[in-house]
Amino acid sequence: MVFFYLTNFLPNDEGHEVHVQGCAKMPSMDSLTYLGPFNNYKEALRSAERKFDEVSVCPHCCSTQNNTVLFSDD
Ligand SMILES: [Zn+2]
Repeated sequence: MVFFYLTNFLPNDEGHEVHVQGCAKMPSMDSLTYLGPFNNYKEALRSAERKFDEVSVCPHCCSTQNNTVLFSDD
């Protein structure tokens, strides 16, 4: 299980971005919303999309190549 955060707003009003806890590219905690624990970024993204319209994933911590995050969950 991995903990995910959502940015409140990106600098250029590009919407919200999903980050894994501990991501080096994550902004400071006061500009983040805690999303919750998920098995992978796709589950986190789905949850975020229920609350917000413009949601993307961070390319640094959320791999687009597969369904699992780069961090091991066991
Ligand atoms: Zn990230």
